[in-house]
Amino acid sequence: MIVQAFNAFSENTVLLPDGGGGVVVIDPGFSTVQEWNWFDDVLSSQGWEPRAVLLTHAHLDHVMGCHGMHRRFGLKPMLHALDEPTYAMAPRAAELYGISLDPLPELHGRRLEADETVEFGSLRLTVRFTPGHAPGHVVFVDNQADRVIGGDVLFQGSIGRTDLPGGDASALARSIEDVLYGLPDHFEVVPGHGPSTTIGAERTSNPYVNAEGTGMLQQG
Ligand SMILES: [Zn+2]
Ligand SMILES: [Zn+2]
Repeated sequence: MIVQAFNAFSENTVLLPDGGGGVVVIDPGFSTVQEWNWFDDVLSSQGWEPRAVLLTHAHLDHVMGCHGMHRRFGLKPMLHALDEPTYAMAPRAAELYGISLDPLPELHGRRLEADETVEFGSLRLTVRFTPGHAPGHVVFVDNQADRVIGGDVLFQGSIGRTDLPGGDASALARSIEDVLYGLPDHFEVVPGHGPSTTIGAERTSNPYVNAEGTGMLQQG
């Protein structure tokens, strides 16, 4: 796995090799020539060929590389059906932020479904539905590597914001308590922003949602 932050929002793009020369790109955030050059260097040094684009959710910062992934590799992004409106809204969000966004490609014909396992080569990712930050947010659990690619649900010492369209604070708290904290303590959380953490560290001391129920977002 390679994780690298891109674009004005320092969004973590995650590259997961499929064990057969392919690589799955989660939340492609490439937005400048330099960022695409970084990706090209990784592809040639690792000998990887992009095989799929998956989205945890479709906020602007997570889709900035979708145009290029389609134009250069013919890959259309896969997401959960409930995040289609978020995807459709991304160009408007770019305008509001005053950021240029290349036209987004058509979505892949296949939608990600809650609790399904998607396979690419030897890579198996279980899709878990985690709404709250975005209405169709999902996380990808990699049980072979003991980690979860978590998007903007749970961060080191923080959680995703819920003030954007489709945000829902109590849904987010439930997603974290029921889905993320249902994973083993030693699982690594690779978030959409900032450093990785572990389920156990956040369950114990996350100030917003924790196992004690004393977090700022919890009823207790
Ligand atoms: Zn987001
Ligand atoms: Zn984000």
